[in-house]
Amino acid sequence: MRWPVTLVCRDTGEAYDAAEPRWRSESGGLLEVEATGSLDVHAIAERPPTLWRYREALPLADGVTPVSLGESVTPLVRISIGGIPVLVKQDHLFPSGSFKDRGAAVMISRLRHLGIGHVVEDSSGNAGCAVAAYCARAGIGCDIYVPRSTSPAKLTQLEYYGAHIHRVEGTREDVAHAAREAARSSYYASHVWDPFFVHGTKTFAYEVAEQLGWRAPDAVVVPVGNGTLLLGAFIGFAELKAMRIIDRMPQLIGVQASACAPLEGAWRAGGSDLPSVASVPSLADGIAVREPARWRSIIEAVRWSGGGILQVSEGAIRSALLELGRMGFFVEPTAAVAIAGARELLRRPGERETVVSVFTGTGLKAGHVLDEVLHS
Ligand SMILES: *Cc1c(COP(=O)(O)O)cnc(C)c1O
Repeated sequence: MRWPVTLVCRDTGEAYDAAEPRWRSESGGLLEVEATGSLDVHAIAERPPTLWRYREALPLADGVTPVSLGESVTPLVRISIGGIPVLVKQDHLFPSGSFKDRGAAVMISRLRHLGIGHVVEDSSGNAGCAVAAYCARAGIGCDIYVPRSTSPAKLTQLEYYGAHIHRVEGTREDVAHAAREAARSSYYASHVWDPFFVHGTKTFAYEVAEQLGWRAPDAVVVPVGNGTLLLGAFIGFAELKAMRIIDRMPQLIGVQASACAPLEGAWRAGGSDLPSVASVPSLADGIAVREPARWRSIIEAVRWSGGGILQVSEGAIRSALLELGRMGFFVEPTAAVAIAGARELLRRPGERETVVSVFTGTGLKAGHVLDEVLHS
């Protein structure tokens, strides 16, 4: 990574030194990391199969020691959807059970290096678990704000890691508000706001490209709520293309549940406004985000890649979920959204030889919902 790494406000262009712990700009805008990474594909070939093999592509100072729980490169497994092969990243196999460990590993490594001793985060579940796990590993204290509806298994996981849990009544936005208030006297290690998180999730793209022999797939289908995986995938593939390691961008396809699909609405209407939507209870609670802060970046990323945003019904999520169990996979309902989306995509015309999707979270935390799905 070439220095200096700069944080730039999306709205105003104000720039800050990344040695400063800040999660938003002076004017309250979203920050993005500006840095030039590098990657020597021959030099890394012999390194251990963890996301740290792409170290030079991560915007971390040379002195940063990784906070690691052994986040292995996840297997890319071929499944068949409607007779068509799809390659699926097994990101539910991460240490805390979701792809959010990619982001938390990189974000928390930097924060420990900066001497941060305590953080605050809000999450509907998996992001909180990932942050709590890496904080425990790093010896950083954390307070996690969650909606009252958070699954019992995720609450237990948070408590087990030693996080202080705050259950907040009201909407997901109320939870975020409570966390931001608390962050006035702490650091807001938000998977949505801290711009280093998506530089962790970008390792998804590096792994996919490497597993395909340093080629880009034709399409990448991911569930999207706040867009931390979609934006990470975008950054990763765009960097690999800029470094001429791959020769084109894959189409990025974001998938939302119809029960809460503001991004799909924005995409369909041309992308200049985020519609206000009701949030109906959904199997895909992990992506029920009514006001994703980085929505403009998500629309831009999807457009730039030549992709799109789809929505899938509860029925389609349910059948994808049941189908995955019968194939031997154990994932949480939100993870089935991408597979339902891939099925929808493959019905549409288009030349797509290599389609990649992802299992974003494990089924082990969602036993109560899976039980309802099986018996309803
Ligand atoms: C967080 C999460 C998602 C969606 O990620 P966003 O960053 O909100 O787009 C999808 N599936 C699971 C299991 C998750 O935990």
